[in-house]
Amino acid sequence: MTDRVLVTGGAGYIGSHVVRQLGEAGYDVVVFDNLSTGHEWAVTHGELVVGDLADPEALEALFAANEFDAVLHFAAHIIVPESVADPLKYYRNNTRNTLNLLGAMSRHGVNRIVFSSTAAVYGMPDQQVLTEDLPLAPINPYGASKMMSERMIMDLASASDLDYVILRYFNVAGADPQTRLGQATPEATHLIKVACECATGARGGMQIFGTDYGTRDGTCVRDYIHVEDLASAHVRALEHMQQGNGSEILNCGYGRGFTVREVIDVVKRLSGVDFPVTEAERRAGDPEALMADNQRIRRRLDWVPAYDDLDTIVQTALDWERHWQARQNNPTDQ
Ligand code: UDP
Repeated sequence: MTDRVLVTGGAGYIGSHVVRQLGEAGYDVVVFDNLSTGHEWAVTHGELVVGDLADPEALEALFAANEFDAVLHFAAHIIVPESVADPLKYYRNNTRNTLNLLGAMSRHGVNRIVFSSTAAVYGMPDQQVLTEDLPLAPINPYGASKMMSERMIMDLASASDLDYVILRYFNVAGADPQTRLGQATPEATHLIKVACECATGARGGMQIFGTDYGTRDGTCVRDYIHVEDLASAHVRALEHMQQGNGSEILNCGYGRGFTVREVIDVVKRLSGVDFPVTEAERRAGDPEALMADNQRIRRRLDWVPAYDDLDTIVQTALDWERHWQARQNNPTDQ
């Protein structure tokens, strides 16, 4: 198979795992990334073009120079509290840049997209296990920026021959089990990353944001999915469109959840480090509990997760964190 695919944000955490799986599956990959949070070394397959989706000329040159069969669009900001503090940053980088990308695809006749969306589009629903047909009601600008991008994709699909697979990610964590790739984003805020930084000494301690939620231990519940399973969902999504199966909106999660305290306990147990944890106020924009109903992705993509185990997720994240910190302390030892 020699299909040429464009991966925006392919030097980032999730994108880089997908690029590796695509490369191994025989795809011809072009990564377009501004390296704002991604890394050149993380692009293990294909060609890296350093550029910004906000730059129409760079985008035009990219599409003029390549005949893409499909686009996988990861490039985005993803931090909920930051989106609350600086919403326009999210509407620019996520929503407007998706518009720019769709414009280039449309002008150049590229009619397949796999889009990275989020459970944050659902907002604060009544039920905890979420199906894809729930009304969308994001409670933070991050979720809204992705909801608006979804809508543009669907509207363009109605008006053209565009096919899409929109993947709504739940909480992505873990790393390549061989520690070739992992979360290397500076100043990461996501729970498992933060806890692993504490366990490995890169951070002195952490806070639990909110202990008065109506959950089993008062802290928020999330559906943590291993990045390798999420990556395989993207490869399957691409194959699904190539087989002419049309457009889909699919949750990506395991359908079960863990509280913040439970996650921290696993990190402490597996690392053997009892790092300091303090209780703090609720964080703006956090829904109480989010879990995926994943029946649809299992059925439509024949997706079979291989890492549905919190210990495995945390262990791979810890292994990566140790590797990454050793590497930063000794950059020649790569
Ligand atoms: N969280 C926490 N302390 C941290 C980071 C996260 O208590 O240092 C909580 C956060 O408030 C939320 C859950 O962990 O309830 C997951 O947050 P994360 O930022 O990992 O992902 P999100 O669900 O916001 O995308």
